[in-house]
Amino acid sequence: MQKLLEEVYEQSLFACNMGKIATYIPALALADQNDLGIAIVDKEGQVFKTGLFDKRFSIQSISKVLALAYVMDDQGESVIFSRVGKEPTGDPFNSLVRLETSASHKPFNPLINAGAIVVSGLMRGNKPEEKIALFAKFVEKLVGRGSVTRNNEVYHSEKDTAARNRSIAWFLKEMDILPGEVEETLDVYFSQCAFSLDALDLAKVAIILAMDGFDPIRKEQILKPRIAHVCKSLMVTCGMYDGSGEFAVDVGIPAKSGVGGGIMAAVRDRMGIGVYGPALDEKGNSKAGLEVMSRLSERLDLRVL
Ligand code: GLU
Repeated sequence: MQKLLEEVYEQSLFACNMGKIATYIPALALADQNDLGIAIVDKEGQVFKTGLFDKRFSIQSISKVLALAYVMDDQGESVIFSRVGKEPTGDPFNSLVRLETSASHKPFNPLINAGAIVVSGLMRGNKPEEKIALFAKFVEKLVGRGSVTRNNEVYHSEKDTAARNRSIAWFLKEMDILPGEVEETLDVYFSQCAFSLDALDLAKVAIILAMDGFDPIRKEQILKPRIAHVCKSLMVTCGMYDGSGEFAVDVGIPAKSGVGGGIMAAVRDRMGIGVYGPALDEKGNSKAGLEVMSRLSERLDLRVL
């Protein structure tokens, strides 16, 4: 497996040059286009890793899956799904259009910005700092290490430039869908997006999802099977932005990407995969990450769809 992983790494490096680093959050532009890291945790808890598997980056939209799992774990499903749907949109992650034109005005799913901002608004705690500290504890439980922290440069950079996310949040407030105070909720959202993890951390979370909540490294049930099931289902339909359909056809694995360049993928009963490669395609998915995923899927016959 290690040898195969190294081959896939070598064969995928070329794709780093074919994507573009996100610049709409100015601090993300500081990433290095040529970076690539991959980690795999298999169902026995064995770890395989190569390249910059331990380089930390802001997980951005991948935090939406973690936040969904957290609020489901803490408060149950219905509190979320009474305000947010479970349907893919086919639109970009930060689109406003369907919020206004759909009859209910509910965000279509928790993995687009509108839905994720609602989930952030549901987090327990009095002030944003308390909410984010409790959520960080949950993420620490998933990755099996302490000190999960926010990249402050990325956090401030997004906070200072988030006109579109502010528009989404204020619209949801007007529709009475967004709980809590708008700027405080956005603060939680920007903080969770700026959480700093590496590809190995993502693989460790992914194996828990892949094993229906069981962590084969610690030999412990970490999440309820139902939570893993809901997360993976939404990852299939909505996890790779408006490229989710194509990814399902080409790769066939539940996965979530973020504009920081991460991809987290869960292959049921087999493995968790984490990839970092900050150069993105036009939809916001890591270009080299897509290359890695498609090669791994092919060579290891990982398709679950
Ligand atoms: N913080 C980013 C935003 O709201 C997350 C986007 C992403 O990774 O898809 O624009």
